[in-house]
Amino acid sequence: MSDTAVTPSTETFDQFGLAPDILKAIVEQGYTTPTPIQAQAIPVVLSGRDVMGAAQTGTGKTASFSLPIIQRLLQHASTSASPARHPVRALILTPTRELADQVAANVHAYAKHTALRSAVVFGGVDMNPQSEQLRRGVEILIATPGRLLDHVQQKTANLGQVQMLVLDEADRMLDMGFLPDLQRILNLLPKERQTLLFSATFSGEIKKLAATYLRNPQTIEVARSNSTATNVTQTVYEVAEGDKTGAVVQLIRERGLKQVIVFCNSKIGASRLARSLERDGVVATAIHGDRTQNERMQALDAFKRGEIEALVATDVAARGLDIVELPAVINFDLPFNAEDYVHRIGRTGRAGASGDALSLCSPNERKQLADIEKLIKRPLDVQRLTVDVPVRHHHEERSPRREREGREGREERGSGRRRASSGSGAGGSSFERPHHHRQAPVDDFFSKPYEPSPSSRKADEVADVPVNKVASKQPLAALLGGFGMPVRKSTSS
Ligand code: AMP
Repeated sequence: MSDTAVTPSTETFDQFGLAPDILKAIVEQGYTTPTPIQAQAIPVVLSGRDVMGAAQTGTGKTASFSLPIIQRLLQHASTSASPARHPVRALILTPTRELADQVAANVHAYAKHTALRSAVVFGGVDMNPQSEQLRRGVEILIATPGRLLDHVQQKTANLGQVQMLVLDEADRMLDMGFLPDLQRILNLLPKERQTLLFSATFSGEIKKLAATYLRNPQTIEVARSNSTATNVTQTVYEVAEGDKTGAVVQLIRERGLKQVIVFCNSKIGASRLARSLERDGVVATAIHGDRTQNERMQALDAFKRGEIEALVATDVAARGLDIVELPAVINFDLPFNAEDYVHRIGRTGRAGASGDALSLCSPNERKQLADIEKLIKRPLDVQRLTVDVPVRHHHEERSPRREREGREGREERGSGRRRASSGSGAGGSSFERPHHHRQAPVDDFFSKPYEPSPSSRKADEVADVPVNKVASKQPLAALLGGFGMPVRKSTSS
């Protein structure tokens, strides 16, 4: 990795010419130094030029586009109550609800001292409050593609005055099959606009998308690397498939991990592992595409509050999660796509902190391990792990079904969008329980098999993965990202 990837920028936010109201919000966020992507992207976005930015979540990329967007829109800020004075001028598209929510929280914080309004729309929740907010008018709209199109169809969102568009995590949007939705949305936007495309990887597909929709973009790369953050210690443990649950319990206990994300390749695998961990006294819950939006948000909040020790996640559900100071991630399964490994372990060791990436590798995952080593261009430290934690219900992890699901049940290739919740939320779920180890799960979600809903549009709209639209992954071109995040100063407010 080059020095530039770890050397904090010496610039300050003052030199971008941002308005005092924005600078005040930055100070309140505790940011003192722009991250490398911010140092490079902010002036270019301010100049009005299109950008093709190579950056992963965790590099500070949200502020790198949000701050200059807010600055550029300030001339239109209006305190008028009239919706006509608050058309959508900036549209930020993200692949997942979690990322949309995080981006929206950031935009809201950065614009809080201005009269600019922002809103977020994503599927899986009631459309009405979103419609209400859109009717009152917002200048900055953050959206997942499917729900945005629903609002367009219902005429609650008008995109005719959008002058700035952000495609955030564009590679993941394509991976998830959103290209047709993106094309529909792009066709609704004015041709005269500024387009910013952010992507962790620049595959051929991404380049094609950029060539079609961007005009003479400035390419911004903070650090070219297919490698992983240097502050993350990576260890691979060779274990038998049937010992993996015991291995997770053992690693959590031996290392005293209080907060860990455990990655599984399938939704069913994630549910099953969470259930097994609970039986072994680890406070765990699963987040994946079959859980309602409310359940996912509640799980995430409970995890952030420290009430859940192990968040068992699939790649789609975990995409874009920003959990500050996450000490470790465990790969229960090695991902089928090596690129996902880099995304997964990027959940730890953020903002300059150190982290551990612990991966379990069974004999039938050696190919995946080789692919990862090829991608990151170095061998990983492989150790043998003797599992001596007795695990109850062990046989579940050995069931032949698991083998099948490992291949077929992968969420991104999965059977499509999540079933619609009938507004049940996560009431009575395990997230609300007091923080102590329990012996039995109370969330009956874990004992229910996965049932895809009748394929209605309504059901479709709650998920991020469109049915029948899942594009095959392109070979990886490059994984780019900056890991030189300055340490965030704590704020008193
Ligand atoms: P992002 O890559 O946009 O998801 O940002 C990752 C995390 O870094 C978020 O928690 C941001 O609030 C934080 N962050 C963004 N910019 C800075 C900065 N200049 N200094 C410190 N933290 C930052």
